Amino acid sequence: MAKPVLLSVDDDPDVLRAIERDLRSKYGADYRVIGTDTPEGALNLLKQLQLRNDSVALLLADQRMPHMDGVAFLQEGMHIFPEAKRALLTAYADTSAAISAINEANINYFFMKPWDPPSEHLYPQLDDLLDDWRASFKPKFEGIRVLGTRWSPQSYAMRDFLARNHVPYQWIDAELSANDPETKRLLAALGPEAVNLPIVLFPDGTKLLESVPADVAQKVGLRTRAQTNFYDLAIVGGGPAGLAAAVYGASEGLKTVMIEQEAPGGQAGMSSRIENYLGFPTGLSGGDLARRAVVQAQRFGVEILSPQEACGVRIEGPYRIVKLADGSEISCHALMIATGVQWRRLEAPGIARLQGAGVYYGGGATEALSCKGEIVYVVGGANSAGQAAMNFAKYAERVVIAVRGASLSSTMSQYLIDQIKETPNIQIWPHASVAEVHGDTHLEEISFLCSDTNRIERVPASSMFIFIGALPRTDWLADLVERDDYGFILTGPDLIREGKRPKDWALERDPYLLETNIPGLFAVGDVRHGSVKRVASGVGEGSVAVQFIHQYLSKV
Ligand SMILES: Cc1cc2nc3c(=O)[nH]c(=O)nc-3n(C[C@H](O)[C@H](O)[C@H](O)COP(=O)(O)OP(=O)(O)OC[C@H]3O[C@@H](n4cnc5c(N)ncnc54)[C@H](O)[C@@H]3O)c2cc1C
Repeated sequence: MAKPVLLSVDDDPDVLRAIERDLRSKYGADYRVIGTDTPEGALNLLKQLQLRNDSVALLLADQRMPHMDGVAFLQEGMHIFPEAKRALLTAYADTSAAISAINEANINYFFMKPWDPPSEHLYPQLDDLLDDWRASFKPKFEGIRVLGTRWSPQSYAMRDFLARNHVPYQWIDAELSANDPETKRLLAALGPEAVNLPIVLFPDGTKLLESVPADVAQKVGLRTRAQTNFYDLAIVGGGPAGLAAAVYGASEGLKTVMIEQEAPGGQAGMSSRIENYLGFPTGLSGGDLARRAVVQAQRFGVEILSPQEACGVRIEGPYRIVKLADGSEISCHALMIATGVQWRRLEAPGIARLQGAGVYYGGGATEALSCKGEIVYVVGGANSAGQAAMNFAKYAERVVIAVRGASLSSTMSQYLIDQIKETPNIQIWPHASVAEVHGDTHLEEISFLCSDTNRIERVPASSMFIFIGALPRTDWLADLVERDDYGFILTGPDLIREGKRPKDWALERDPYLLETNIPGLFAVGDVRHGSVKRVASGVGEGSVAVQFIHQYLSKV
């Protein structure tokens, strides 16, 4: 924990030096002693300390200073750090001014200059003041703070990014907590900059205005640029399949890089509880699984670039070259595509406009707490919707699962259906599909088309989470790899048609099991045509593919 500050201000350099020296010798082990020679400079410093979320235990000011006297400074300082103890340094002639200041300006004590010996005239009184301060002191949060508003898509993107990358942060809602004295002081310290939300405040005092994940990534030490430009194995996508390939590849001696555009964990990282993954009888959250896998991969020396997007691939002889969104390139011998699938978009008026402001695709782990006491709508009837509903039910007053069909039985696993039945605040709304969403700055109402009555029902709502299936985004590979009609990548035996190998295939062997129509370019997990869309199968494919990569590399 950063030490609380003792701040003294005096325009006389000799007095300032003396008071700093005496404070430091007695309190330096537990407090940070700072001296400034102008009240204006001291007020600026207090604002900086406020932005860093530091604590100030004492303000000690000389009474006679040009422009602003000690009492005026202490009154101003009190608005920034109201809990700090306030004391004046006065000459004998100013005693009566100091006494009236005690009453008028809430000053806790005044010291006479000179205060020699400090053991008699300074320390006993300061000990008392600091004991008092400690008794009511609550340690402040010491990490990253995000100041934003609940309905802002940019604020949502920032919180989601930090949560999915396991970066601890404190969320401060500038609207909902506008009357909170702490928030008021923070906004005052930010001054005119306070409108540039979301603002990310770092413990070192720096801040990012209108911040976006890529800027924050640099600050929190996430790596987005490769250390070198050549690898044995490059993996695009950091879901279970990509992470498994990274762990197996690196543990078997391959120099491995993994490129992930959002946060390692992929879809699984959004799951609130995975109950069917072998070895975890009580289930585990996707976030936990991702965090463990990342640590494991890093232990074996995998380089993880995140957030970083792969946007093109070209082949130059034995080299596969991946183009990244920031314009840089990485070349490798073997390339693995593990880009999974992304949520299908719901086509209805209002959805695109309110996305991130009450309308969300997938998980919503970031939003779950904000939905406390509210009614939450979950759209979709598959396992992902069921898991999300179970998670929201812990916080929301009621969760409504809207499904197009008559029930969940054909789309959801029985264990989840059973859990939902036993959860009294989850309600299934069959035959319901979203016709339109309404709201100016955020979601306020949803119109559902009820196919059994053929009527539109309009209900008040503040949060809607959409889980209506997913599709691969593989257009960036379209010129190179063979895909099916939905964009899933063909591999191994799927590429052999009427006994013939793929067009332009020049090798004397068939493509390996998880290899695409380009030798040395593999596809694993959900992005692969015919894959079983499960965590375990993604992990299995990612691990197995490494064996084929060894075989491929042995002949490059
Ligand atoms: C909410 C939810 C709950 C689920 N629950 C379960 C469960 O309980 N049990 C179970 O077995 N399965 C579950 N699944 C399914 C399971 O999560 C997936 O089958 C699995 O995550 C697929 O892994 P993957 O690595 O193939 O792809 P994904 O997990 O989709 O990961 C792909 C990754 O690639 C990244 N990416 C995509 N394009 C690029 C690019 N161009 N550049 C860089 N990176 C890119 C993405 O950001 C993503 O992180 C669930 C899925 C969801 C959404």
